Amino acid sequence: MINETALVVFSGGQDSTTCLYWALKEFAHVRAITFIYGQKHVLEVELAEKIAKREGVEWEMMDVSFISKLSTGCSLTDTTLEIEEEKEEGKLCPSTFVPGRNMFFLSIAAVRARELGIRHIVTGVSQTDYSGYPDCRDAFIKSLNVTMNLAMDEQFVLHTPLMWIDKAQTWELADNLGVLDIIRRDTLTCYNGIPGDGCGHCPSCKLRREGLEKYLAMKENK
Ligand code: ZN
Repeated sequence: MINETALVVFSGGQDSTTCLYWALKEFAHVRAITFIYGQKHVLEVELAEKIAKREGVEWEMMDVSFISKLSTGCSLTDTTLEIEEEKEEGKLCPSTFVPGRNMFFLSIAAVRARELGIRHIVTGVSQTDYSGYPDCRDAFIKSLNVTMNLAMDEQFVLHTPLMWIDKAQTWELADNLGVLDIIRRDTLTCYNGIPGDGCGHCPSCKLRREGLEKYLAMKENK
């Protein structure tokens, strides 16, 4: 265990909640920050607060809704848009992409971490299951880590425990941390705002369910 504090970028979804529990095991102290950016599902934020409070994690919410005003066409923040079930052929990014989101989140988290005297920042991005979001890739995270350190003359360490694992392995990690049922029941990943196992048909629910089924089958065959 590292005898320092980690700041977890915590949305209340499967990935960041798994990261929160990972941090609770790896670090002596954990704080969490949840960003609101005009996402349709405020319930996600309420769930994040609930989990953080239950685990005794100091939690704060930061309103960064200006992000959703910078660009149009994202179905996660624009209530007039339907969420696509599949990414359109030939399109670079899915309709759920919020341009710059992780860059803003992590940069703001770093400024906050600096203020709090924290150098470890944890984020649940994954290159393996990055769903077409360029700011979930390892090269971006490493590049931003260098940039943040240069920008503030600090020695931040960006931790990405999920970077090279898929959804099934993320469930496995949750199980190893003893929190599979908590993650399954109390987190919200569904684009249609339904907690737990979700709506079952949006891209996020599909990814989550297929990962869980794969992991449970793997476990059974052990
Ligand atoms: Zn769903």
